[in-house]
Amino acid sequence: MLKLEDAQIVSNISLTKDFYLITFKAPKIAVEAKPGQFINVKVSPGTDPLLRRPIGILDADPEKGIIKALYFIKGKGTNILKERVEGERVSLTGPHGNGFTVSKESKNILLVGGGFGVSPLHFFASRNQDKNIFVAIGGRSAENILLEDDFKKLGAKVLVATDDGSYGDKGLVTKRVEEIIVKNKIDEVLTVGPIPMMKAVAEIAANHQIPCQVTMEERMACGSGFCFACVCKTKQGYKTVCLNGPVFNAEDLEW
Ligand SMILES: Cc1cc2nc3c(=O)[nH]c(=O)nc-3n(C[C@H](O)[C@H](O)[C@H](O)COP(=O)(O)OP(=O)(O)OC[C@H]3O[C@@H](n4cnc5c(N)ncnc54)[C@H](O)[C@@H]3O)c2cc1C
Repeated sequence: MLKLEDAQIVSNISLTKDFYLITFKAPKIAVEAKPGQFINVKVSPGTDPLLRRPIGILDADPEKGIIKALYFIKGKGTNILKERVEGERVSLTGPHGNGFTVSKESKNILLVGGGFGVSPLHFFASRNQDKNIFVAIGGRSAENILLEDDFKKLGAKVLVATDDGSYGDKGLVTKRVEEIIVKNKIDEVLTVGPIPMMKAVAEIAANHQIPCQVTMEERMACGSGFCFACVCKTKQGYKTVCLNGPVFNAEDLEW
């Protein structure tokens, strides 16, 4: 069930120039959170900005009451959030959304992530260590590749590709997805990142008749399904990303 939580910042550190990792003491959300869900963050104590900012959950420790999130510095809200310091209180709502659902029978799972998209995928990997996890991470250049070692610590097999070749394979990560699917008898694919990347991954998965879940990102206001600001087009009509998503079966989407 959705919670409103007056969370305390445990740490808020920069991983690279553009990406920050924030850790909250938020016991109510930590108990409920599932991979693929997100929190809605009131970045400032005042009323500006008015709208909360949606950020995916990277990790949740129900025993310690801790949740983590990875965020990209984009505009006003995330620039305010990066200035918030340890000990300060931040109002959170969550966990929002549906999260990933994979079949019990699926053993070999491929995760394809770009940018902060690796964050919910890492949460999935940490909660599914009984499965064989394969990860493909793509980014424009080396500084956009996140969590590679964290996935490896979980025992996942990781492939990295950068557009400029500054780290890992040169070129789009999607170039290697087909090969990974075939070689490792992948049962299901989960992808989070830019739309063109997810679309390409979904097409490859469909060609191999493999279920593929994608995570949609739309501009959001209430985060609870009331305002219909964050709709995306599906074969069953318009659906809200905040309540019906953010995870959708790729085959249901009208891209
Ligand atoms: C379900 C979901 C999960 C997300 N997970 C993450 C994550 O894990 N890490 C991360 O860095 N970012 C994530 N985002 C994107 C993040 O919410 C936006 O980058 C952020 O809201 C930008 O706020 P801003 O004030 O810095 O930028 P501004 O551009 O100043 O934002 C202005 C307004 O647009 C909205 N907005 C802008 N960009 C987006 C966007 N891409 N998606 C939704 N609303 C947007 C903001 O909420 C705000 O109302 C997620 C978005 C969604 C919908």
